[in-house]
Amino acid sequence: MPRVKQQVVSHEREKVGLVCRACGCQHFRVVYVKHRPGGVVLRRRECRHCGKRTLTRETVVGG
Ligand SMILES: [Zn+2]
Repeated sequence: MPRVKQQVVSHEREKVGLVCRACGCQHFRVVYVKHRPGGVVLRRRECRHCGKRTLTRETVVGG
């Protein structure tokens, strides 16, 4: 019986353009960066246009 392990992993890196859900612009500034154990990096970003803040989570695997 084949085991299909489906992972929903979003690779949100810098190359992926983050689009503001509020105004649709792609210009963000990083408010702060938090490093969590396990290679998880949280970035709080603020839209330069409307000021809406969003949190992105990145997981760094390996080196
Ligand atoms: Zn915006």
